[in-house]
Formats: sequence, C-alpha cells, structure tokens
Amino acid sequence: MACNNEAVVLEPAREVADILERLGVRDALHGDLESYSPIDGSLIGRVASAGRTDSDAQVARACAAAAAWRDVPPPLRGELVRRFGARLREAKADLGRLVTLENGKILQEGLGEVQEMIDICDFAVGLSRQLHGLTIASERPGHRMMETWHPLGVVGVISAFNFPVAVWAWNAALAWVCGNAVVWKPSEKTPLTALACQRLFESACEGFAAAPAALSTVLQGDASTGQALAADPRIALLSATGSTRMGRAVAPVVAARFGRVLLELGGNNALVVSPSADLDLALRAIVFSAVGTAGQRCTTLRRLIVHESIADRLLPRLRALWPALVVGDPRESGTLVGPLIDLQAGAAMQRALEAAIAQGGVVVGGEARLHAKHPLACYRAPALVEMPAQSSVVQQETFAPILYVLRHRTLDEAIALNNAVAQGLASSIFTTDLREAERFLSSAGSDCGIVNVNIGPSGAEIGGAFGGEKETGGGRESGSDAWKAYMRRATNTINHSDALPLAQGIRFDIG
Ligand code: NAD
Repeated sequence: MACNNEAVVLEPAREVADILERLGVRDALHGDLESYSPIDGSLIGRVASAGRTDSDAQVARACAAAAAWRDVPPPLRGELVRRFGARLREAKADLGRLVTLENGKILQEGLGEVQEMIDICDFAVGLSRQLHGLTIASERPGHRMMETWHPLGVVGVISAFNFPVAVWAWNAALAWVCGNAVVWKPSEKTPLTALACQRLFESACEGFAAAPAALSTVLQGDASTGQALAADPRIALLSATGSTRMGRAVAPVVAARFGRVLLELGGNNALVVSPSADLDLALRAIVFSAVGTAGQRCTTLRRLIVHESIADRLLPRLRALWPALVVGDPRESGTLVGPLIDLQAGAAMQRALEAAIAQGGVVVGGEARLHAKHPLACYRAPALVEMPAQSSVVQQETFAPILYVLRHRTLDEAIALNNAVAQGLASSIFTTDLREAERFLSSAGSDCGIVNVNIGPSGAEIGGAFGGEKETGGGRESGSDAWKAYMRRATNTINHSDALPLAQGIRFDIG
C-alpha cells in the first residue's frame, strides 16, 4: 500500500488524489475551502467549511460521545489509541508524503511528523494505565484524603499549518485516554491532511465497540470557525496552537466563560555559542535548527548569539554554507529547504530582510529561487543576517528561514539577550564548560520552556512537556505530566471513623 518515496515525481494534485484514495478518503474535491500545494502553488483539493449550524451539531455529537467515553475504563481507551497508532504505522509513508505535498516540508520531516504521532500514541497507551492521583495524609483521625482525575468533556483543538498532523495527535491521543472527545479545527491551509487523519482514526474505531461515534470530529474552516469554538461553553478545554496574535484573540474569549485554554504560540528561539563550544557540533545544530522546515517551526532557531572570541571561526563557515544549502522540491531526497507555505510568507520574509538592512544588518542569501519554474510557489534561499544589535526586527517572529547573528562578551550578556524578547519557547547553549551549562539551565539562566545544552532548540521528543513562557502562552502538551491539562482534579476526603472532627480543630457543637 505504501507509496514509493523515490518514485517518479508526479503533479501534486495527482499524487494527492492517489494517496487520499489509498487512505480511504472519499470526497476531497468539493467545497468552498481550497487547498494548494506549496510545491507549485497548484490546487490539490477542496473541502467544505463547517458553517455555524454544522459546527453546533458536531459539538453536540462530541458532547454525547464524551458522555459515553468517560465511562470506558482508561486502559480500554488506551487500546483504541494503540489501534490508531497501528493504523498510523501502516499509513506512515502515505501520510508523511501527504504532509509534504500540502505543507511543503521535506519528505524526511513529513515522515518525522507522522512518527511523532506514532510516538505520542505509544506514550498515551502507557499513560492510560498511569492516570495516578495522590493519597494524602489527613490531619483528622480515621480520615483519608486522595485525588481523583476525571475527564473534562470535549476538548477543542485549533492547529497551525506548520505541524498539520502532529499537533492534533499530541492533543488528541492524550485527550482520548483521559476520557474526552476531541473537536479539531485544523489550519485552513492544510485541510486535506486533517481529512486523512480523521479517516485513519475512524478506521481504528471500526469494530471497536466501546468507541462512540464522534469521538473525533473535524470542523474545517478559517479563523471564524476557531472563534466559534473559543466562544462555545461546551468546549471545556481549548488547546490552540498558532501565532501569538491568534492566542491574544482566543484567550480572553475562553477566559470570559471560565473555560480552560492551553496555548502554544509563537517562538523567537536563541542558541548561545560559548568560547568552549564544540564548533563542529554547533554548526550542524545551527543549520538544522535554522533552516529545517524552511524556518517554519515554532522552535526554529532565529537568533544566534556567538561569543566574540570565536565569531571569526564560526561565522565564515556559516557564510560559506548558507548559499550552498539545497533549496527545491521537498519530495527530492537532496533537498534540505522546501518552499514557504505561500506567497504571503515570502512577502513577510522580504519585509523582514528590508527592515533588518535598515537596522544595520548585513544579509547573506535570502533571495527568491525557482520563481520562473513555479511562479505561484515561494522558494527562498535561507538568509543569514549579522546584526549590530537586537533591534526591533530581531525581536519579532518572522516565520521564514532568517537567522539573525548577534555577538556577546559574557555569559550574563548572552542570557540577557536570550531573555530580552517577548516570546519564551526554546533556547540552547553550546558549551563544554559545566559551570556555563548549569548557569544557563538555572533559574538565573534562560527563561524559556525548553532549555537545551549541546543540541539545538528545534526537534523536541514527545516524552517531555512541550511549550513556552511569556507570549508563547504558557501551555504544556505532549509528555511528562501534560496529561493533567486534559482532566479535572477532585479532592476527596473519606471518613471511616464514627466521629466528625472538623479541620483546623474547629468546634461547632450542636448539643
Ligand atoms: P495562525 O495563528 O495564523 O493560525 C493558527 C490557527 O489558528 C489556524 O487554524 C487559524 O485558522 C486559527 N486562527 C487564526 N486566528 C484565529 C482567531 N482569531 N480565533 C480562532 N482561531 C484563529 O498561525 P499559522 O500561520 O498557521 O502558524 C504559525 C504560527 O504558529 C507561528 O507563530 C508559530 O510559532 C506558531 N506555532 C506554535 C507552536 C507551539 O507549539 N508553540 C507550534 C506550531 C506553530
């Protein structure tokens, strides 16, 4: 069934149609929402947006599913997620290639994204037997306290174009084992991968008697569909991944109805290179983190903070390497940098480079590529921009392959630069000095949610809690104890004595 990754390269629309057919997706040709491949800007499918009435009905179905699913024992819920993971394993080549066709990331990364889905399913299966609460010592004789964890109900997921399938899976796999139903509003730029995921989940549910209908629902649409989810009091938790602008719009709406949010927003990630760093290692990490996914990861390396004593050894190597990075069709095995998502992303990159030059930056690369061949697509060479200071353009997240380079003299100065932006997602230090590494990791060090030593800021594993501070939104998803966000906690006190002592020794005698 799997498609051959090295096969002759076909028109994107033809490949998409073949893959969708193999995955059992029936109708991806009709509807108002069009999907274009970043590879050549061609139309590859159409889906129907969920209108208000449809969304309303789908959320009602999800509520009914949640009410049935919460009674299913967690290990049995885990069994469904295990089956879904098995479907993903079978479909990995097809789904990975579909990600590449619709999102434009290189095939290795498309496949990696599906692997991440498989990994979180495995994690969630184990978790389904470990939704532990505490037993707590009571101050009263003959009493016991404990915590129990219960499903929330319906979890809404809003996802971004750049991880069109993994982010949903991070949320959904945990939400399901925690006993919730999931309503997914995917990015309007990647509706077809969402259809494929939904179909794979439905196929995992086939023959699984405990799975209610509408345990997973997809609401296709643009920001307005996301806004409706945010305002809907039936959505107990809204997990929203995207720009800080989106988070600013969504968070107050959910807060006004006392709902819960889990925000995974923009990043502006830094890597510090210290005098003692292994420069060969640092170089490889810098390249992958800065230009992988064409600079369109939330964890993309955007700010390189190099010690002045080694800048003249490291920077010439980067200046030589940047123009040689292979930009091209993401399906071809030699390509390292695929297209940007659309022409607007290219225009935003251009504006950022012009602003950087106006602020004193010196630019290597960044030019348009393959324009004559693909006028409707946006291929850009990665840009390396040496800046005199961390000026306003460096403080913004431009979702494109631009790496700003700054210099530092002391570790304190490097940490201050790392922390002096509004976002707080990922950060790294390259050093072989234990004291420097520990200081960077300490409470006086990086203020980010992800803080690494001798690896880049990008490319997290699912076992850790993922997310960031400040304008990145403060949410955590994926591994560690992130599951707690998908459940509500009840504190229970049980009296097994024949007396009724009050806490704090309070006396309240009624005679
Ligand atoms: P985006 O904010 O434009 O869109 C993300 C999603 O939010 C889409 O589904 C969109 O339809 C929806 N949306 C937009 N405005 C909305 C509103 N007002 N109300 C409700 N929904 C709304 O982001 P994008 O361009 O798709 O993705 C890139 C951004 O996502 C970058 O900023 C990147 O850093 C961020 N991102 C963050 C993480 C993370 O884990 N922190 C992961 C991936 C992407």
